[in-house]
This record gives sequence, C-alpha cells and structure tokens, in this order.
Amino acid sequence: MIKLEDISVQQIKGVSAQKEQELHAFGVHSVADLLDYFPYRYEDYRIRGLEEAKDGEKVTIQGKIMSDGLLQRYGKGKSRLTCRVAVEGLLVTAVWFNRHFLKEQLTSGREIVLTGKWEQRRLQITVSESEFPDRGTMRSGSVQPVYSVGGSITQAWMRKTLAQALAQYGSMLEEILPVHLVDKHQLMTRKEAVELIHNPGDAEAGQTARRRLVYEELFLFQLKLQAYRALTRDRVQGVAHVVSAESIRQFVKTLPFELTDSQKKVVNEILIDMRSPGCMNRLLQGDVGSGKTVVAAIALFATVQAGHQGALMVPTEILADQHYRSLQKMFGAVGIEVGLLTGSMTERRKRDVLAGLQMGLIQVVVGTHAIIQDGVHFNSLGLVVTDEQHRFGVNQRSILRRKGINPDVLTMTATPIPRTLAITAFGDMDVSTLRERPKGRKPIQSYWVKHSMLDRVLGFIRREADLGRQAYFICPLIEESEKLDVQNAIDLHVQLQQAFPDMAIGLLHGRLSTAEKDEAMAAFSRNETQVLVATTVVEVGVDVPNATLMIIMDAERFGLSQLHQLRGRVGRGEHQSYCVLIADPKSEVGRERMKVMTVTDDGFEVARRDLDIRGPGDFFGTKQSGVPDFKLADMAVDFAILEEAREDAADLTRQEDFWTNPIYSRLRDLLKRDQLFQGDLLD
Ligand code: ADP
Ligand code: MG
Repeated sequence: MIKLEDISVQQIKGVSAQKEQELHAFGVHSVADLLDYFPYRYEDYRIRGLEEAKDGEKVTIQGKIMSDGLLQRYGKGKSRLTCRVAVEGLLVTAVWFNRHFLKEQLTSGREIVLTGKWEQRRLQITVSESEFPDRGTMRSGSVQPVYSVGGSITQAWMRKTLAQALAQYGSMLEEILPVHLVDKHQLMTRKEAVELIHNPGDAEAGQTARRRLVYEELFLFQLKLQAYRALTRDRVQGVAHVVSAESIRQFVKTLPFELTDSQKKVVNEILIDMRSPGCMNRLLQGDVGSGKTVVAAIALFATVQAGHQGALMVPTEILADQHYRSLQKMFGAVGIEVGLLTGSMTERRKRDVLAGLQMGLIQVVVGTHAIIQDGVHFNSLGLVVTDEQHRFGVNQRSILRRKGINPDVLTMTATPIPRTLAITAFGDMDVSTLRERPKGRKPIQSYWVKHSMLDRVLGFIRREADLGRQAYFICPLIEESEKLDVQNAIDLHVQLQQAFPDMAIGLLHGRLSTAEKDEAMAAFSRNETQVLVATTVVEVGVDVPNATLMIIMDAERFGLSQLHQLRGRVGRGEHQSYCVLIADPKSEVGRERMKVMTVTDDGFEVARRDLDIRGPGDFFGTKQSGVPDFKLADMAVDFAILEEAREDAADLTRQEDFWTNPIYSRLRDLLKRDQLFQGDLLD
C-alpha cells in the first residue's frame, strides 16, 4: 500500500518543481512531511463587535465604506491612505501605510473587513490586512494558522497548499499510536488532530489538537530511547565482566588518596552494571572537581582485569593529553599499557597505536573522537568512557557499539542536569551522581570587582605566586570572533609580562598548534609558568591542583554555566582557592549572574538559578544540553506529557509483544528508519 511518506509534494495541486525545491529547505519532501509541518501559532481573524475591541490591540472588524480613499504621498514612495468606514453605526477611520494601490478598490458602499491595531480614542484602525467579502474566499472570520515560511513561500501559499494537501490526502492519515494509549489519554485520532491543527476553527480546538500531537511526538521520541535501551541492555549480549572486588581494592590502595563515600557508591553502581551480561549505559554526573576521572580509571581498570580493553574519549586534545598522562601514572604501577590516539598525531605513531589496539597490547586508549573512526579495531573492547558527554552525540556512541561487540558505556558530565531534562535527553541511560567533593576541599571564594580594581587583582596574583601557587587569567569572550579572542589574549599576555617581569607567563589560545597548546598546558601543570593567560580553551576538564586563582576578564560576557566551569579549574587541591570576576555589567542579567557566582559554588545551585534568570525555554534550548529540537513540544510547558510518554514507551518496549506482534509493525518500521537502529532491530 502506498504511504504518504512516499508521495512527493509535487503531487499536490499547485506545487511546482520550484516550490518543491524550496520546501526542502524546511525539511519537507513528502506529503507526510508537509502535513506534519505544523503552525507555530494562530492568528485570530474572527470578526469582533466594536465593544470587544481593546485599545492598542489587534482586532478584525467589518463595515461599509462611506468615503473615497484619501491618498497622501510623502518622500521615497511612502504613502498614507485613509477612508471612513461605518461599523455598527459608528464612523471609523481606516488608515493604510504604503498601500496606495488599494485606493482604486475603496468605493463608497462596498463592504470591507479590516484587521489591524485599534485606537479607541480616535476610533481609528491602522490596517495590516483588508479583505472584501464580495471577492469570495475569505481568510477573515476565522482563526488562521501561522507557519514558519520564507523565500517565495508565503503564509498565504502555505495555508492554501496545506488545505489542498488535506483535501487530496487527508483520508490517508493513519493512526500511529497504539490503540490502548489513545484510549488511556483520551486522545483524538491522528487524522482529526492533523486536520484540526491546520484548520482549527478556534484557538482552543487548535490546542486540543496540539496536545495530541505533542504526546505523539514525545512518545515516539521516548519510544526510540526506550527501545534503544531495551535492545542495548536487555536483549543484546554485552560483556559480562568478571572482576573481583579484591583486585579493585588492591588498585584503589595504590591511589594517592582515599575515595570519598560518593565515589565508592558510584563505583559500586558501575561494577554491578559491568558484571551483568547486558550493556551498561550509565551517565555519571558530578560537579566540577568532584573527582570523576578516578572513577573512570577504576572502571577502566576493571575492564582490563576482566581481560578486555578500555577506551576513554574526551572532547579536546589538551584533555586527551592530560588524561593520558594521569592514567599512565595510575596504571604504570599495576602494569597496564596505556596508548594515546588523537587526530594530530603523525601517521607513524598512529599506526603503532592502531596495531597495539588490534593485537591487544594496548589495554587502555585515551583520545579524541579519532578513537571511533574507521580503521580503529580493538582486540576486545569492553568499556568506553566518554568525558564531558555533551560534546558527544548519541550517534557517535552507537558507531562505537557497531564496531563488532557491545562494550559497556560510561558517560561523564559536569553539566548538572535537572531530573526532567535527564529524562528527555538521556531517557535511555541510568544515572549515577557524585554528590560530594573530596574531603578537605575548601569552598572557592568568589569576588566580583570592577575594572578599576585591576591593580588590586594584580596584587592578588603576586600574593598567590609568593605562596607558590598559580593563576589562570581568562580573556574576554568576543561573540563570534575567535580572532578577537586571540588578540585579547595576546595583549593581556604582554601586559602581564610587563607587570611581572620576574614571573613566567604562559599563553594558550585556539590559534596555537596542538603541540604548542600541549606545551603551554604542560608547562603550566609543571609550574614552569606561574600565570596562564588563556581563552576559553581551558573551559572543560583541565586539572592543575596547584592553581588557586581564576581571574575572568569581562565576566559578564560569559554564561553562568560557563563561568562555573571556568571557576572549576581551581579549588582542585588542598589550598584555599579564589575566583575573581572582573565586570562592570550594565545589564540586570549580568549583575544577577555575578551575584549568583559570588553566593554559591555549587553547580546544581548555579544551574537552578540560571534557570530562574533565563527561563526554562532558553535553558533547554541551548545546544549544550543535548536536548533535541522538538517540532511541537516545548520543554518549558510539556513536562507532564513527557513523563507520561516516557512511562508508556518504557512499558511497551518491555513487552515481548512489541517486538513481534504485527499490530506494532508500523512503530517498529519507524524505529528502523532511525540510524541508531540500523542492523539492530528484530523482525
Ligand atoms: P572532575 O570531576 O572535575 O573531572 P577530577 O577527576 O579532575 O574532577 O578531580 C579533581 C581533582 O581531585 C584531581 O586533582 C583529583 O586527583 C582529585 N581527587 C579526586 N578524588 C579525590 C579524593 N577522593 N580525594 C582527594 N582528591 C581527589
Ligand atoms: Mg573531568
């Protein structure tokens, strides 16, 4: 049977080849896509009585033209057209700007419908749209959908084309949701909902239709996550790591510190998953400095103990290098071979590492996404850890999984994720949280100072340097211009060299080669440079416990979560650490942010306040959060529906029926179209 997905929009009357091309830009290829191209709001053109018209608001009224149009022209083709219209016995003045061509049509006695801004005092309407009932088809008198349009595709064309599409193909709209869920939530059918959302009659009906379609969107999204989870955890033979608690204990003893209770707890959660035959897919979240790396190291140790290999993926080469060195230190003592694999390595070195991985000589590899590229073969990959997850997509993880076996996956992030957001973005994961920081850590003291106090800030650097400590000095961020960021860093570097002729000042920015960056970072971590001037390249992960001072120039240019990440570069050792925010913010939001930074250094609290300041829409919209863009659903208002959808999807995928019963074949087909599932689905 032919499906709407397979019918080109060109089959719709009035859609030319040229329009078809333009529709592609909106992601519309098939008739199904077009019918799913939902309006993002409605425009109310229902005709109102004058007593309902509110001053200063938009209104649609109908009346009889009482005078010829009066046209005034002034400068550069601008014009003002007025005429008098009798509406319910009152004489209203209608005003058009730059619509001189309408003058001919304004003839006394003709009925006219006017939409525009109403001015009560002057009985005047500034017309944005007008229509004549004697012309036939009318937009006014109804609620009209408003679509996102552009190019030669206008609002009117879109409305007409959707009406046409519904007329031609509406009857082919099929239910996708399982019947029991439609009943449970008392939803209208898919056909009803799609017809109604494009042509709602009134805005309330549009909302009812929207609710059904939001549920559908969230359910299908959750179904994907839950099915993925079911396939990767419960149905797929993963690696059942055989590893004794005793060997882990021995390894932990070699570490220079004791684990926190929190670390022990999450290590246990991870070990339970690793020992089980299913595939682990666990998210480890913990504030900056909470000690995630050592947890990863223990998990990697466990996979090697069980006779497999481990991989640690990180977002930047600086971090790869840092983790490589610290793992070498930890694993050297227990005879585990560690390799490094990054994009900028020479081909020769790469070849050696690749050979080592294939033969199993290298037991743990650290690297950037180079690790998952084609041509990388493992002897027996048991565990993949990704650090700072938000830089890695779900798809990248699944590429790894498709490299033959199904390794356990541990994903680490410092981005505190509210529960609801975790459900959305990570519905397929189990979550472990590090709640405490290592003992003996003193809270970071944060200060907000004005630019005029720069001298005192420099004095602060001197004082810490005299105590043997080190400082980061972060340059202002120039929106959209890495070049200016770099220039800022270079200027500041010169300035600090002049201020502190006796100190070594390092410089780190995005335009340096990888080798230069590594060198700058390594020199700072060996305390060969006392101050590191840097752009935000040091934002994530960097760990130099002897650094105690974080200075951020023009701090108002950074978002709260970024400021918190930057601040997290200090306070990583036993010494008291400080964060100095240099800012003269003129905006209220800027001042709010500085205030938040000075009152708390708890990442979850910062995230909560960030939410207050920015509002959830903005928060969830950020790319960083890893939340997908939904067509209709709005995370700020549709939480409740999301939770229901998740439970329904989880219930369904737990039933054997879902994977075999023909009544669900349509849903399974939908999953198959997703690249996550390629080669993975039953049937
Ligand atoms: P993050 O969670 O930000 O990745 P790291 O894993 O880099 O944090 O740890 C921050 C610092 O704390 C590192 O220098 C690490 O060696 C140290 N650390 C981790 N766990 C402990 C602990 N239990 N006791 C003392 N120091 C610890
Ligand atoms: Mg880290």
